[in-house]
Amino acid sequence: MERSEFPAVLPFELHTHTVASGHGTKDTVADLAKAACKKGMFALGISEHGPATPLSCSESYFRGLKTAPRMRAGIRVYYGAEANILDETGRLDLSGDTLCGLDFVIASIHPNSYFCPAYEPVPLYEKVAVYEAGRLPKAHPVMKDAQEAVRCNTEAYIGAMQNPFVRVIGHPDDVRYPVDVKALVAAAVRYGVALEVNEASLEPGGHRGDTRSTMRAILLECQRLGHPVLLSSDSHGASLVGEAPLAWAFLSEMGFPKELVLNLMPPETFWSLKHKAPER
Ligand SMILES: [Zn+2]
Ligand SMILES: [Zn+2]
Repeated sequence: MERSEFPAVLPFELHTHTVASGHGTKDTVADLAKAACKKGMFALGISEHGPATPLSCSESYFRGLKTAPRMRAGIRVYYGAEANILDETGRLDLSGDTLCGLDFVIASIHPNSYFCPAYEPVPLYEKVAVYEAGRLPKAHPVMKDAQEAVRCNTEAYIGAMQNPFVRVIGHPDDVRYPVDVKALVAAAVRYGVALEVNEASLEPGGHRGDTRSTMRAILLECQRLGHPVLLSSDSHGASLVGEAPLAWAFLSEMGFPKELVLNLMPPETFWSLKHKAPER
């Protein structure tokens, strides 16, 4: 596939953060919506970190999103969450009552909020300090047992996918949290969940490590099973909303079919993966 077949900006995306996530930006929902509109996007999702992320939103913030305006700066805005997967059962840091009021839910593993016996716990001072410094988290979990970590992480993701409100697994390529790729993709197909190709993950020297070989394995398995993927900027702030040049280049180099890229399809394709679209 020629790289030119991919658009410069994602027509729509769901994984972005504002000032409410507590780190990485001071931009608001209005700032992101304006930027997305200016770039020609037709829809934008806002997905703040769940309450287990230090200094992020409380549960009540997410409950309040039910009444937030769906059109902002001339663009359709979807309000969701990037919920934290807390342990190997796939438990999330937001209750079912809250999740059911959101337009979509991304479930991700982050070092500051995930407990798995195969890792040394991240010390509390480290969890909070990185956020107070206003930087993205760099905490590196220390793995004690690699085989047990794969089992635990894979179960955690699959447990989260079984949650009826989870539509996306965020950055499943994080090398700090290795997975059984075949089991992961099979579960994604089974539970109608999209696996994310995360732009921030593919940045050279990124805090998730060199994610390319895991991402390649996930994409090959998705292609083999005909399961679509969702691209995300994971932008903290307005400037990078809709931008995923590394992800596009990666798909292009692999010859990944654009028919399996949800961002290039009508949004109904994404919404119908799991169950019907939000009604608001
Ligand atoms: Zn994340
Ligand atoms: Zn994120």
